[in-house]
Amino acid sequence: KLHNTILELKGNIRVFCRVRPLLRFDGVSNGPEGASISFPTSVESTGRGIDLINQGQKLSFSYDKVFDPDASQEDVFVEISQLVQSALDGYKVCIFAYGQTGSGKTYTMMGKPGIDQKGIIPRSLEQIFKTSRFLESQGWNYSMQASMLEIYNETIRDLLAPGRSNGFEMTSSKQYTIKHDPHGNTTVSELTIIDVFGIADVTNLLEKASQSRSVGKTQMNEQSSRSHFVFTLKISGSNENTGQHVQGVLNLIDLAGSERLAKSGSTGDRLKETQSINKSLSALSDVIFAIAKGDDHVPFRNSKLTYLLQPCLGGDSKALMFVNISPEASSVGETICSLRFASRVN
Ligand code: ADP
Ligand code: MG
Repeated sequence: KLHNTILELKGNIRVFCRVRPLLRFDGVSNGPEGASISFPTSVESTGRGIDLINQGQKLSFSYDKVFDPDASQEDVFVEISQLVQSALDGYKVCIFAYGQTGSGKTYTMMGKPGIDQKGIIPRSLEQIFKTSRFLESQGWNYSMQASMLEIYNETIRDLLAPGRSNGFEMTSSKQYTIKHDPHGNTTVSELTIIDVFGIADVTNLLEKASQSRSVGKTQMNEQSSRSHFVFTLKISGSNENTGQHVQGVLNLIDLAGSERLAKSGSTGDRLKETQSINKSLSALSDVIFAIAKGDDHVPFRNSKLTYLLQPCLGGDSKALMFVNISPEASSVGETICSLRFASRVN
């Protein structure tokens, strides 16, 4: 169902598609290294539209924006900096990266070391700290708190739990219960929340979270692409001149890989994992669809992820979904599924 849903997205949910460049190792599965790769598939993009030619058939999709393979991290950030900024104005913001494993989700969200390669998470935090400092001159005082969790098999894990980065937390029996208060504030019981004062604090925490995830990886079989990563920054601001108060939230989410497993041959843990990912990605698609259609009932409770993000998806919140796709010929099936996941119907 998930993979056949064509969404007409309106209102506060926008969708950007990003095509990653062809990488050297992409050729390996198709032929000897260094051989030129021929494409039965070709992806053509023009600003908002994307055409995919598969075995002579042309499929067209359109989004709020399409980023070509040569779009830089800066090119991408320029298009979202306003949205990030609105978290300082008191909005609840979610930015998701959706796509199959290897399509560039983590590159888009986190990026790689090096100034030019930094992704949305470090750039957003830099901008937020910089702007909040500037706004101090107008009487604003901000305080910020960060938390990082992952959702694996519908279970929350605290990536900043003391001891987590050396494996301790893997055996924790903590119950992370999600609660929403009537004001739209979300708390997750027992989740570690850290006050952050500058980009260095966040960089440290991201490092810690990444160690926590890689501990999981050796124990849990490539867990990081099988779990949803959720970075949350809560922003409280008050203005001593005007008496105004704002409470914004910025959620940055690197979703689990959307690839379907071959129906045969997956059993046990792997099957459970896949079912759980499918369930939560379809729940996300159902929620977005219901919001976009203006339905009275939005099924937030069907997954941990949608329940956690409920106040940040409905109401006057703002959401952006990146659909990351790979240009590889061997990925065409998954690419079509991803493009359909959130294509705007013209
Ligand atoms: P995912 O998180 O979806 O599994 P990754 O972000 O890890 O995918 O990307 C897979 C590989 O492709 C990584 O080596 C990554 O650095 C590279 N990559 C992805 N997108 C880009 C891009 N836009 N430019 C350069 N390299 C990219
Ligand atoms: Mg990844």
